[in-house]
Amino acid sequence: MRLSRFFMPILKENPKEAEIVSHRLMLRTGMVRQQSQGIYSWLPLGKKVLDKVNAIIREEQNRSGAIELLMPTLQSAELWQESGRYDDYGKEMLRIKDRQERPMLYGPTNEEMITDIFRSYIKSYKNLPLNLYHIQLKFRDEIRPRFGTMRSREFLMKDAYSFDLNKEAAIHAYNRMFAAYLRTFSRMGLRAIPMRADTGPIGGNHSHEFIILAETGESEVFSHRDFVNFDIPAEDTDFDDVAGLQAIFDKWTSVYAATSEMHDEAAFNAIPEGERLSARGIEVGHIFYFGTKYSEPMGAKVQGPDGKEHLVHMGSYGIGPTRLVPAIIEASHDENGIIWPAAVAPFDVVLINMKAGDAVCDAACERLYTALRNAGKDPLYDDTDDRAGTKFATADLIGVPVQVIAGPRGLANGEVELKDRKTGARETLTVEAALNKLVG
Ligand code: ATP
Ligand code: MG
Repeated sequence: MRLSRFFMPILKENPKEAEIVSHRLMLRTGMVRQQSQGIYSWLPLGKKVLDKVNAIIREEQNRSGAIELLMPTLQSAELWQESGRYDDYGKEMLRIKDRQERPMLYGPTNEEMITDIFRSYIKSYKNLPLNLYHIQLKFRDEIRPRFGTMRSREFLMKDAYSFDLNKEAAIHAYNRMFAAYLRTFSRMGLRAIPMRADTGPIGGNHSHEFIILAETGESEVFSHRDFVNFDIPAEDTDFDDVAGLQAIFDKWTSVYAATSEMHDEAAFNAIPEGERLSARGIEVGHIFYFGTKYSEPMGAKVQGPDGKEHLVHMGSYGIGPTRLVPAIIEASHDENGIIWPAAVAPFDVVLINMKAGDAVCDAACERLYTALRNAGKDPLYDDTDDRAGTKFATADLIGVPVQVIAGPRGLANGEVELKDRKTGARETLTVEAALNKLVG
C-alpha cells in the first residue's frame, strides 16, 4: 500500500477523551472512530489488525474441530422467551420492534439461536460431538462503555457452542477449547492466564476466564507466578486425544489463579510470598460448561446408543476480538507508539522514502516495494512528501515491526537502513541484502 493513497488519519494531538494508552494510540493512529457512545467504526489500519486477530482465532478454532457458521445480529424475542432469558436479561439487551410490532432484539449472545439450529437438525448421538462458532457483532447496552473498543456497546465476539451426549464428552469439548485458547492468545504475543470463574447455579470447576495481565485491566487478579513458564500446547496437538487434553487442562489449573470474585485469601496466602502475583488483568476470553441449561427448556435432545432420548450437554466459549486489539497494545507499546507482534501487525514492513521526488530514492524504493509485494509481503510505502522526521514518528507510532529507511546519503553507496521497531536495533545493508533479509 502506498501511504499517499491509503486512508490513515493520524492525529497530531493526544485525544482528551482517552484515559488508557491503547485507546489513545488507536485514536491517534486512526484505527477506529467512535460513531456514538460505545459504537465504533474500524478504519482501514484498525481493520487490518482486526482481520489478523480474527484469522488466528479462526485457524485455532478450526484446528480444534470447531466449525464456522454465521448467525444474524437481530433475533426474535420468541427464542429468548423459550429459554426464560428475555425477562432476565434486563437493560443490557437492546430491544427493537419491527414494522409488524414483533419484538426483536440485537443479540448480546447466541445460546438460544444455536440451540434452535441444533434441535432443528440433529436427532442422533451419531452426529456428535459438534462445536459450531461464528465471529459476529454483539450488542450489550453496557452501563459504562469505556476505554474505546475495550468495553464498547457494539463489539465483535467469537462465540462457539459445543453439543455432546453427556457430561464426560462435554468436558472433553471444554478441554479442546481450553487448549485452543492457550494457542490463540499465545500466537498474538499474549500470555493469558486461565482463571476459575463463577459457574453460578450450575456449579463445578468448568468455567474459566482468560486474563491478560495489564495495569489498566478492569479485573483484580491473584495467581501463582508459575504461569509465566508453562508450555503452550504445540501446533500438532491431537484434539481427539482425551487424556492428552485433560493433562493440558490439569497442568494449567494446577496452581492458584482467580479473579477477585473467586478469590480465596487463604489459598493465595499459602503460596510462598515471592511466588505470589497480585495484579490487574483484562478478560479476553471466557469458556463455560453449562450442561442442559438451554437444552432442557428448549427441548434439544438426541437419541443415544441406548435408543433413549437424552438432553444434550452444552458449553459456550467466547473471545472478544475487538477487545483483544487494545489488549495487545496495552501489552506491547512504548513512549513512541504501538509495537505490533508480527502475527497481528497491519503491515509487514514500512518502507520510508526519506526524499520523495529524488530520482535515486524513488527508484530504490519502487524496486524494494515491488520486490516485497512479489514475495508475498504486505509493505506500507511512505511515498509522501512529509519531512523525514514526521515519517519516522509515524512509522514508530503505527508500530509495524520492521522499517526500511531509504535516503540519498545511504543510497549513494547503494545502502538502506533496517530498523527493528521493538528493539530499536539498526543495520545498514545493500538494497539486495536488505531484500534477502526481509524476504528470505
Ligand atoms: P465483562 O466481564 O468484561 O463485562 P463478560 O463476562 O460479560 O465480560 P462474556 O459474556 O464472557 O463477557 O463475553 C465473552 C468475551 O467477549 C469476553 O471475554 C470479552 O473478551 C468480550 N466482551 C464482552 N463484553 C464486551 C464489551 N462490552 N466490549 C468488548 N468486548 C467484550
Ligand atoms: Mg465473561
